[in-house]
Amino acid sequence: MPMYEFECADCSKTFDEKETFEEHDRHKEIRCPHCGGTNVHQLVTPTGVKTSKKS
Ligand SMILES: [Zn+2]
Repeated sequence: MPMYEFECADCSKTFDEKETFEEHDRHKEIRCPHCGGTNVHQLVTPTGVKTSKKS
C-alpha cells in the first residue's frame, strides 16, 4: 500500500497516510492526525526515496 505525505494547512505539520489507489482515486477525505483538520494537501515526495526511520 502506497504511503502519501500530507501537510496540514491548519497546524503546518506533516504526516504520512496509507491510502489505496482506489481510495486515492475517490479523493478520500484525509484528516490531520494532529489537529483533526481536513485542510490538508498532499506533498510531492520524490520517487525511489526510502525512509528508514525504523531500525
Ligand atoms: Zn493539523
